Amino acid sequence: MLENVLGVRVIRAYSKEENEIKRFEERSKNLYDKMMDESKTSALWGPIGRGVSGASYVIAFLFGAHQISKGALTIGQLITFIMYLGNIVGPMFSLGDFITMSNQASASSDRISNVLNEKIDLPDGEKELNSLWDKTIEFRNFSFKYPSSKSDLLKEINLTIEPGQTLGVVGKVGSGKTTFLKQILKFYKQNEGELFIGSSDIVDIKSSTIRDKIGYVPQNHLVFSKSLEDNVLFSKKKDSKGGLSLEEALSLADLEKDLSQLPNGIETMIGEKGVSLSGGQKQRLQIARALIIDPELLILDDSLSAVDAKTEEKILKNLRETRKGKMTFISSHRLSAVINADTIIVLKDGRIDEIGNHESLMKNKGWYYEQFLKQQKEA
Ligand code: ADP
Repeated sequence: MLENVLGVRVIRAYSKEENEIKRFEERSKNLYDKMMDESKTSALWGPIGRGVSGASYVIAFLFGAHQISKGALTIGQLITFIMYLGNIVGPMFSLGDFITMSNQASASSDRISNVLNEKIDLPDGEKELNSLWDKTIEFRNFSFKYPSSKSDLLKEINLTIEPGQTLGVVGKVGSGKTTFLKQILKFYKQNEGELFIGSSDIVDIKSSTIRDKIGYVPQNHLVFSKSLEDNVLFSKKKDSKGGLSLEEALSLADLEKDLSQLPNGIETMIGEKGVSLSGGQKQRLQIARALIIDPELLILDDSLSAVDAKTEEKILKNLRETRKGKMTFISSHRLSAVINADTIIVLKDGRIDEIGNHESLMKNKGWYYEQFLKQQKEA
């Protein structure tokens, strides 16, 4: 149901309503049949249970009356017996309910335990990382593959990023740019080689102390069902000092100009419950969310793909000015986004295929050079 509601526009665009209705009906029918089976069983056993308990009273009365007429029982004894019978029947019903409910509970608890018992495959380190801004980040013969992938997606990466540098990461779609950027966030278990932050292996560093210092703008837009303001402030910790003001973050991400178009400005509800923003607006919102904490390392993962070239240039200029001396990693399919980076790496099938700055890569006349000329022509 959720899939159909969320995807209603795609379903309509491909005229797949009939198929989806059929699929939905099949699944509903399946659920309906199961619930009917359950209802029939309880409809059968409920009356049987009550019938048996009722019958026990009738039998007790008849047999008791017979015994009284024979003088084997007094009326008081019969009444006492029937009262005890009443005391027994209630708990017996409860016992039945208890058995049914405990079966249901055990089925549910199995599902919860499966989640709770899931082993953490990434043991966390214990070292606290006090700061990132004065540290080098160094990949040493670093290779990586996702748990579900067959072969390495990052291969023998050797790279040192000096404090305060801007790193550009470019390459074809699927060359491993996102995978590379995610390594610093310590989302996955490392495979081979080492990744050092300063003099510590990332394996030994407590992941929360790394992530605290990073402003990460992922490729996929994520807006929460909250006001625009709360969406931007999401990254701020309650007791955190420093960082930028809301106005500064919005201005740097070039989102200020959009506020007047929104019905309630900064307080406009967005996401599922409110206004839907354009792709470019969502990207700029995410950039503002990352900038507001004035992170020691800013990671932009193709985060400007949905904004026009002029806005992109404006945001990049703002970043160059405000992030002087602070580490920034930018991956982008548009090479104009990385022209000013201190170091640019070109990834090809998970390997560093070319490395240098814009000038040296242009002289190199490899993929970067060709791609740059091609994109300039298109522009
Ligand atoms: P890029 O950012 O350059 O487009 P990615 O880093 O997203 O490249 O992807 C590199 C390769 O890793 C792709 O072949 C992709 O299918 C694969 N990949 C990405 N995420 C996962 C994942 N969670 N599990 C398995 N494979 C993945």
